[in-house]
Amino acid sequence: MTKINKTRAIVLRKINYSDTSKIATFYTEEFGRVSGIIKSGRDSKSKIGAIIDQMNLVELVFYQKENRDIQLISQADLILHYPHIKEDYEKIKYSSAILELLYTLTIENEINRKLFRGLIKIFELLEKGYEEAKILFTRFLIFFIKELGYELQLTKCKHCQKELEKEETVFFNFESGFFCEECKIQIQAEVVFEKELYKIMLCLTNKKYGKIKISNKKIDRIIMFLVKYLSFHIPEFKGIKSLSY
Ligand SMILES: [Zn+2]
Repeated sequence: MTKINKTRAIVLRKINYSDTSKIATFYTEEFGRVSGIIKSGRDSKSKIGAIIDQMNLVELVFYQKENRDIQLISQADLILHYPHIKEDYEKIKYSSAILELLYTLTIENEINRKLFRGLIKIFELLEKGYEEAKILFTRFLIFFIKELGYELQLTKCKHCQKELEKEETVFFNFESGFFCEECKIQIQAEVVFEKELYKIMLCLTNKKYGKIKISNKKIDRIIMFLVKYLSFHIPEFKGIKSLSY
C-alpha cells in the first residue's frame, strides 16, 4: 500500500543516483529519518532538486511504500535555507557535524519530535549567532546523547548521592558515571574534571545559566569526552568525521 505523506524535514545528505536522479536523506518531524529519490534531480532545471539541498528546512511530500527503503519524493517547498550558516566556515563545520550525527546515529523511521524540534532550534541559534558555533554544537551533542537514551547524570555522585557542585574535583567512569573524591577508592577514575571544567559541563546542560564563554581548549576537551562517551555506548560509532576528532 502506498501512502502520501507530508512533513517538515531537514535535509541531511544528498547524493547522485544514476545519470538523472538524486537520493536524499531527511530527518523529518513526523516519520524520523527517511530517504527518498528525486527523479530527474540532477537536472539543473529541477526545482525540487534545488530546494532539497543539505541543511535546508523543507516541507516535503513523498509516497511511502512499506518494505521500501527509498521512498519517492513528489514535492518540496522551501521553509528556511539558513544563509548565515552557509556563509561562515565554523558554522558550516558544526552544522555538518550535527547533520552527520543524525544521519549515522538515528534509526530509520523512528519518530522523535523532540529531537526534530531541538534540531530546528539549534539551527535557528546558529543562524542568529546566539553563541559560538562550537558551544552551540556542544549543547546539541549533550541533548542528542540524552535523546538517544544515554543521558549524563551530572549533579550527584553516582555512588553515594552526594551533590557534586561544591567538589574541588569530580571524577568519571564510563561504566558508572560521575562520582566524588571519597568514592574514588571504590571506582576507577577514567576522566578527571577539575572544578572549572565540571562547572562548564553543568552550564552546558542547563539553560538557566544562559550564555557562556569558554576557551577553545576546554570546549575541545568536553567535545572529545562526549564523543568518547557516545562511542562507549555505541561501539559502531567511530567519531564525527566533519570535525575529525
Ligand atoms: Zn561519592
